Amino acid sequence: MAKKAFKSESKRLLELMINSIYTHKEIFLRELISNASDAMDKLYYRTLSDENLSFNREDFYIRIEADKENRTLTITDTGIGMTKAELEENLGTIAKSGSLQFKKDNEKLEDVDIIGQFGVGFYSAFMIADKVQVKSRALGSDEAFCWEAEGTDGYTIKATEKDGVGTQIILHLKENADDEQYDEFLDEYRIRTIVKKYSDYIRYPIVMEVTKSRPKADNKEEYEEYKETETLNSMVPIWKKTKAELTEEDYNGFYKDKFYDFENPLSVIHTSADGMTSYTALLYIPAHAPYDFYTKDFEKGLQLYANGVLIMDKCAELLPECFRFVKGLVDSADLSLNISREILQHDRQLKIIATHLQKKIKSELAGMLKNDREKYEAFYKSFSRQLKFGIYDNFGRDKELLQDLLMFYSSEEKKLVTLAEYVSRMKEEQKYIYYACGESIEKIDKLPQTELVSEKGCEILYFTEDVDEFAIQMLRTFDNKEFKSVSAADLDIESEDEKKENEKKKEENKDLFLFLKDALGDKVKEVRASSRLKSHPVCLASDGALSIEMEKVLNAMPNDQKVKAERILEINVNHPVFAKIAGLLATDKEKLKQYAAVLYDSALLIEGLPIEDPVAYTNAVCQLMQ
Ligand code: ADP
Repeated sequence: MAKKAFKSESKRLLELMINSIYTHKEIFLRELISNASDAMDKLYYRTLSDENLSFNREDFYIRIEADKENRTLTITDTGIGMTKAELEENLGTIAKSGSLQFKKDNEKLEDVDIIGQFGVGFYSAFMIADKVQVKSRALGSDEAFCWEAEGTDGYTIKATEKDGVGTQIILHLKENADDEQYDEFLDEYRIRTIVKKYSDYIRYPIVMEVTKSRPKADNKEEYEEYKETETLNSMVPIWKKTKAELTEEDYNGFYKDKFYDFENPLSVIHTSADGMTSYTALLYIPAHAPYDFYTKDFEKGLQLYANGVLIMDKCAELLPECFRFVKGLVDSADLSLNISREILQHDRQLKIIATHLQKKIKSELAGMLKNDREKYEAFYKSFSRQLKFGIYDNFGRDKELLQDLLMFYSSEEKKLVTLAEYVSRMKEEQKYIYYACGESIEKIDKLPQTELVSEKGCEILYFTEDVDEFAIQMLRTFDNKEFKSVSAADLDIESEDEKKENEKKKEENKDLFLFLKDALGDKVKEVRASSRLKSHPVCLASDGALSIEMEKVLNAMPNDQKVKAERILEINVNHPVFAKIAGLLATDKEKLKQYAAVLYDSALLIEGLPIEDPVAYTNAVCQLMQ
């Protein structure tokens, strides 16, 4: 029979597995047991909704058999099994295993522990076996099929005989090599240790026939060996153990295995509640955002268990949107097993749990911020956008919850600071929390608009993400202090004397500013003397709720509705260029118009905004240079 080729991605992963110099080859067993357990979950779940199916608790088990003579290790489950098409689909292609994606994203990371770190799945069998057979009979089918592969050049699928529904995986172990004794995986004690280490919590019995010895019946002095089937795992799920029984390694190992991450989580929340609604939750705060986190493909949610039985893989209702990065599970004895998605949405119990968890997550993060700043910054690097979206979402419903978790780069501290820290340093006479928007810290450092605020000795928060200003506008105040952009039309920072001085300059140059405004037409709302500029000649300020930065963000969105901030062109009357244009009002109005256009375009460039006619701008500048 002709061999079928593996899909190219699968082939790559397979090669990775075969050539793996990875030392923890033992994890292959964890992967196969985990698949077996999933398959039994699926079957068990099916029995709940289909009364024609009758299975007993004893019908669910995983059996491990080691055959030293034939060098085979066989893992049998009584799960849902696979049809011929499923064997092809599931084992001929690697579907969703994160490891390949990781490998792609990190092409340069040569030999990181990805194989051990990830849930690499079925293919890990090829780390220890050179031939793998998968015999399977699907639920509801009386045919069985055998998938078989040796190495990466392809696989075959043919009909076979198999009693009962489920899957049997036969591993033909590789020959021993100098540095690798593959037959260690046939050793009873070794198998027992691996199962205990990685799969102890699996809810189904993992059984193996073990050799024991006992005194002979006729002669108590002598011992005889006998075989007995033993359950190797304790079957207690990790979250049902007490914190004292668990090590950090247990928590982290479970996380990486269950939630397909290669990195340890930043934090673990293991919590229980009794009373009206009783539940246990095991939550993890990941160290990094999954590659699809900020896309619509990302599905949030916690696993939901009803007394140890998985009833939903991603229950979105349990997790508030602002904390959608959290992974984990909830186990509650109060839920019915065959609860449907529709019912879940309206379930009061679930809402109560979700509210509790939201508080827990918040206090975990607040604690991290307080006690382990470095760790919090790592968290913040990955998920700050989500927190800010969270503030903005639902018209600011969660802003109270999230505002203490925000941090922004500070002009004074040169690092991330919280809003509370900012406020604690505010000067007595300072009315506002000042911020400046820009693409990067370096660019904001150079912004002309910051001059006055800096000169007054006020700290400025740097907003470098497009969501920042939107979130802050939703927040409006923090600790009763309003936020103010350094580009706001009314900075309200000048002293009374300064204000008077400004009024005077405005009055003196009234005609000039009116002329400039006329020359620029609709482009600006006003042209005026600047109080915020100290050394630079011009800048833009904006009036109203919509800032220029927000205009940029909104206009970058893929729709036809374009918005425009109300622009004010500000000119530094103490700058030499001002003396020049002031003179032109009496002598050369045409030239003054040209200056107006150049100054306006220059202000746009400072904002990083496109200018309408770059050619005209360049020509004008060159003409003025002559
Ligand atoms: P993953 O478990 O991450 O999906 P695997 O490569 O381990 O990736 O398995 C691919 C798919 O093959 C599984 O999603 C499952 O549908 C199927 N499968 C694997 N092992 C079994 C099994 N013992 N019984 C039934 N289906 C299985």
